[in-house]
Amino acid sequence: MSVFEADYFDGLSARGHVVQLTISQGQLHWSSDAMAGSAPLEKLRWDPAVGQTHALVHLSDGGFFRVHDRSLGTHWAQAGGVGLERWARVLEGRMLYALGALLVACALVFSGLRWGVPAAAKVVAAVLPDALVQIVADQTLQVLDGVMLAPSKLPEQRQQALAQQLQDLCARTSCPPYKLLFRQGKRIGANAMALPGGTVVVTDELVLLAGHDEETLAVLAHELGHVHERHGLRLSLQSLGAGLILVAITGDVSSVSDMAAGLPALLLQTGYSRSMEREADDFALHWLQSVCVSPQRFADILQRLDKRPGETGMLDSHPGTAERIRQFSRASAC
Ligand SMILES: [Zn+2]
Repeated sequence: MSVFEADYFDGLSARGHVVQLTISQGQLHWSSDAMAGSAPLEKLRWDPAVGQTHALVHLSDGGFFRVHDRSLGTHWAQAGGVGLERWARVLEGRMLYALGALLVACALVFSGLRWGVPAAAKVVAAVLPDALVQIVADQTLQVLDGVMLAPSKLPEQRQQALAQQLQDLCARTSCPPYKLLFRQGKRIGANAMALPGGTVVVTDELVLLAGHDEETLAVLAHELGHVHERHGLRLSLQSLGAGLILVAITGDVSSVSDMAAGLPALLLQTGYSRSMEREADDFALHWLQSVCVSPQRFADILQRLDKRPGETGMLDSHPGTAERIRQFSRASAC
């Protein structure tokens, strides 16, 4: 007869006593120096081991055995205490439970990343002190200047003329506080981007690509839309929030600092989300209409950007260019 090692717990105190278990004639027997007893298997509840845990045998008085030897389960089933069907049911139930828990966990992480983080970023971006925003803005610009931008080669007069035109239009309608900077695009070519804190960078290449100054101004209007909605800040907060969630899952703290420092790369590689682009486009459309600049100008520059061979940049990553062109082409002027 096989003997199985187990710990007996009376269900009241945390102390266990080592006992030996045997099965015979449909009964479980237990014995130690201090105690002995038996009970019919059908009066006991068998809790199978899962993973690294021990199987438990529950007595009707609240006491239980923690079984060290897994082979007891097989003997138990053979002795008729646990039908194979019940075994299967128990395992199946646990499997479904585990799968269900996994699905819930995945859903929580996904919805946290998809909706929770952006929503939180929007709220935080709106209340973050300007001084802090300025630090993020300065650092972002520093990285961009170091890696993918160079000082503008546009004549000073040309820069001033464009800046003046934007200022004049802003005097006729509402613009968020902004700072316009000209840079050479180097690797990113004809491009424009809005950084946290209201800095708008436009590249020489974009100014030169434009067939009319109003095309450049239309792009700037779109960037002012990003400024107005604080998209740059929201994007950095989102990547930080997503990073924190990932740290919670993986425990890898180094990934957060990488992500917090990664806004320039984020801006250029993935750009703003589709909904952020739509918001910036809507802002630009109303803005152009309110200052009587034809929305067609924005459609024209989008078309020019779309036709450039082999260049990649932020405007390229903007989704649904054809759809955007249509929206601005169809819109009335003012
Ligand atoms: Zn944009």
